[in-house]
Amino acid sequence: MQAEVLIVGGGIAGVSTAFALAQHGRNVALLERGEIASEASGVNAGGIGASGWGNKPGLESYLTMGSIDLFKTLQVDMGYDIEFRQCGGLEAVHTEGQMEYAEKRVRSLREQGYTVELLGPRQAASIEPAINPKLPGFIYAPLRGKANPVLATHAFANAAEEAGARILTHHHVTGINHDGNSYRVLTQQGEFVASTLVVAAGAWSGDMGRMLGLDVSIVPVMGQMWATAPLPPALFHVLTSTESYHYWSEHPSTHDGMPPSLTHEGGCRVTRHLYGGQTRSGAIAFGGDRQVHLDAAIDPAPGAEGTEVNRGHATEVVPMLSDVPIERTWAGLMPFSTDGAPVIGRIPKREGLYIVSGLASSGFGRGPMAGKLLADYIHTGQMPLVLSEADPARCVTEET
Ligand SMILES: Cc1cc2nc3c(=O)[nH]c(=O)nc-3n(C[C@H](O)[C@H](O)[C@H](O)COP(=O)(O)OP(=O)(O)OC[C@H]3O[C@@H](n4cnc5c(N)ncnc54)[C@H](O)[C@@H]3O)c2cc1C
Repeated sequence: MQAEVLIVGGGIAGVSTAFALAQHGRNVALLERGEIASEASGVNAGGIGASGWGNKPGLESYLTMGSIDLFKTLQVDMGYDIEFRQCGGLEAVHTEGQMEYAEKRVRSLREQGYTVELLGPRQAASIEPAINPKLPGFIYAPLRGKANPVLATHAFANAAEEAGARILTHHHVTGINHDGNSYRVLTQQGEFVASTLVVAAGAWSGDMGRMLGLDVSIVPVMGQMWATAPLPPALFHVLTSTESYHYWSEHPSTHDGMPPSLTHEGGCRVTRHLYGGQTRSGAIAFGGDRQVHLDAAIDPAPGAEGTEVNRGHATEVVPMLSDVPIERTWAGLMPFSTDGAPVIGRIPKREGLYIVSGLASSGFGRGPMAGKLLADYIHTGQMPLVLSEADPARCVTEET
């Protein structure tokens, strides 16, 4: 089968790229080895980070605010029910030390034109009654949002198909040849040929690189979550904690070749990270750990210690969670680059080869715009200026 552009990977990054390319009128096909959203894009917490464009919008502002706009396009303009809501976020500050850090961060973000505010516990409890009123404060980000990750990723795939893209699930890519003009991509269903190839394979981007003779430094990092059975409405914002950000600001990673901002180093816990909230079904779901999981061929499994620590952390923010039974736990693999920044753009020295990856622990919220920026680049041949911050050259090299 021939296509102008072939995308490998049916997560949020791949389907968003397919949607934007199809809207540009390009002949695009996407190959996914499982179902759409069968990996990280289907098992995440659905949080969408955003704090505005700022005075000088950089890549992060484009990815977050641009994605918020695309989620709105799908739900509000196109009529997909993806459970999107710009519900705002509250980040709990646990200690006086964290409070000093939070005050500095909020001051600096506001000076740069971002929409964040530091609330006292009384103000926070008036918009989120279930929070712990004994905590010293909360960072409020009213522009944050959330959506159902499975519904949203499927909606982008469906919108791409409606716009003319071919979305082919159960097509496992096992080899890639380049003959100078085109990429010949092998699957058990046959060979696919295209002049332009996009690697959107998430935590498996390194495997795709090896098929192309490239060393792609994307490290698989395990994230795990737990959820209660459906409960009456109790939580209204995306809830997070300052603890890990404070730790990471004071302890930059020293592990060479490993991504920054992890909860575990050398197999040991160094901090606790937290995100979660209540879904429309009523389930309350939280997660947070980020542990390197080098062999992406081995399915990740949630650990009991991780669930216990995370539940303890969540309970410090929302005390009613202390005795609510956990109904299920799960894990998934996130694509982290070794400097923590996204990897979006053209792979140097290879004709027609592109990548959209490294979206790390916030790829659901940033994926739609990451795909659109890459699609605009492929379509116009001009790199959107903000993508200079995501240049693949820094972490894709020829295999030695
Ligand atoms: C537990 C957890 C919680 C998270 N919470 C949040 C959150 O609240 N907010 C947020 O913004 N982000 C969150 N994330 C991160 C987010 O889910 C990821 O950054 C994002 O989904 C990555 O999207 P992707 O398309 O790059 O990768 P994926 O969704 O992993 O998609 C890659 C796809 O490529 C396919 N593929 C791989 N190899 C091949 C091959 N050889 N042939 C064909 N197909 C192939 C895979 O099957 C997969 O479907 C969380 C992640 C986890 C695991």
